[in-house]
Amino acid sequence: MRYSQLLLPTLKETPAEAEIVSHQLLLRAGFIRKLTAGIYAYLPLGLRTLRKIEAIVREEMNRAGAQELLLPMVQPADLWQESGRWEKYGPELLRFVDRHQRASCLGPTHEEVITDLVRMNVHSYKELPLNLYQIQTKFRDEIRPRFGLMRGREFVMKDGYSFDADEAAAGITYNKMKEAYSRIFARCGLSCRAVEADTGTIGGNFSHEFMVLAATGEDTIVVCTACDYAANMEKATCPPPAPAATLPAMLELERIATPGQKTVEEVTAFLGITPDQLVKTMIYLADGKPVAALVRGDHEVQPVKLKNLLGVVDVELAGEDTIRKICDLVPGYLGPIGLTMPVVADHQVMVMANMVTGANQEDVHLKNVNLGRDFTVSQAGDLRMATAVDSCPQCHGRLELPRGIEVGHIFKLGTSYSEALQATFLDDHGKRQPFVMGCYGIGVSRCIAAAIEQNHDDNGIIFPLPIAPFQVILLNLSPKDVEISRGADNLYEELTSRGIDTLHDDRNERPGIKFKDADLIGIPLRVMVGKRFAEAGEVEIKQRASGDTQVLPMAGAADALVAMLDRIMTGAPKA
Ligand code: ATP
Ligand code: MG
Repeated sequence: MRYSQLLLPTLKETPAEAEIVSHQLLLRAGFIRKLTAGIYAYLPLGLRTLRKIEAIVREEMNRAGAQELLLPMVQPADLWQESGRWEKYGPELLRFVDRHQRASCLGPTHEEVITDLVRMNVHSYKELPLNLYQIQTKFRDEIRPRFGLMRGREFVMKDGYSFDADEAAAGITYNKMKEAYSRIFARCGLSCRAVEADTGTIGGNFSHEFMVLAATGEDTIVVCTACDYAANMEKATCPPPAPAATLPAMLELERIATPGQKTVEEVTAFLGITPDQLVKTMIYLADGKPVAALVRGDHEVQPVKLKNLLGVVDVELAGEDTIRKICDLVPGYLGPIGLTMPVVADHQVMVMANMVTGANQEDVHLKNVNLGRDFTVSQAGDLRMATAVDSCPQCHGRLELPRGIEVGHIFKLGTSYSEALQATFLDDHGKRQPFVMGCYGIGVSRCIAAAIEQNHDDNGIIFPLPIAPFQVILLNLSPKDVEISRGADNLYEELTSRGIDTLHDDRNERPGIKFKDADLIGIPLRVMVGKRFAEAGEVEIKQRASGDTQVLPMAGAADALVAMLDRIMTGAPKA
């Protein structure tokens, strides 16, 4: 490709709207442009990287025995009503009616559609296992689209769905997908970790998320420094504390004036106590009904754990208005005594004595509050976020809590969808059975952003070779010089004919501008044809990642580049 003909609008300035480096660089390097909130156009460079990731995904999915198909994006409401998700899915599902008043939605995911397809077309155990996938644009009306390709409303996903005859077979498929995912992300040059994830209300099942470690990740993950334990925050268990050998004597309940002291920091400083002597009372709406959740002052409620403990579909932290108007309580001074709503407690709270809590009265806290004597709880369990001072639930080793970007998610679904949609097959005894399903997603477009978060410097992107839009950028440093231009053109022809993705910067621009743009767009190898070629028949090759340069005779340049590309590729897992 000739740069002079390419739509590649690079920007000198960092766009103010972009907070994280991948978003900034994708805009500056001319990979994407925003149409409207969370919706982006892929310019030629962006599309090339997207297609390279898709190709790796395809190869590995096919290798693992999955088959590609392409499902409709518009989905009829009645399918979603059958699965029960038409109501449950929430406002991320973009619903609309067509001219015949038929309710429809834009596909955020395709469990319903694929299950419908399979129930109509697959009837016998002899046709199983079946693993189907597609690479397609999804639409989710995200409440807070942000960070460019990281969290879009429209984004490209690989979604796969497996159908097996029984749990054991589904387990084999799941493990195959887990291996395929590890290969996919390694081949994309992403450093990734599989972590255990929450399976929500579909009990007894299994799920892993694939996390690219990066400081800008939206998720925090919990990893053990001593063993292989790794989980996301929703899943990372905090085992119950050992029961105290002797409980301290219950002291007399005291009211203390705490004017204006609301937060844990304020109250502990004001009373001269530590946060672990205080209990935080958090009001949530669980499927719309208020519930109070108690955690120790130095802990935070994990909403998914709360949701699972309560066995509800949705929990939402109550705002100040709800607390005042619906619950008739005082934000900042909440406590468990005298509440009429259900009270649930983290199991760390269950071993506390003489706690400090709010008094459910403006400017007042209570001291020496005791469970049993002063209030009761309806349920206790693991409700809180793990912290770096907790120890590993598997080996008691030290935990770390790095941040990560979720690029993939695999999930053993069991029979929840096949039962809801009555998708069945005849087993080898002629008995009707629901398919045992799994689903497997990859955020293909999000992977571009994740790769940049992991691979960049002050000058721009440093693409891993397998997903770089071009492998080589060839700079003609003197486009007005006929001899140099002929040399550059010939090398470009040779590289292209040898199957190397080459971008030829033939623009009438100063070398400095070409160097800057080449660094910004992150092409792994840069070849420079300039004065040196005119004087000594030599070209210079520079590696984007290491900055290493070497000078070679033009005659051997193509061979040298091919060899360098091979060397870089063998450093990465083989295709
Ligand atoms: P998240 O927790 O980030 O919202 P999710 O659990 O909703 O993700 P899945 O439904 O498992 O995501 O989707 C499969 C994959 O699609 C995710 O692992 C992620 O990489 C990608 N993905 C999900 N939502 C978005 C989005 N809004 N923009 C870009 N990629 C996304
Ligand atoms: Mg989501």
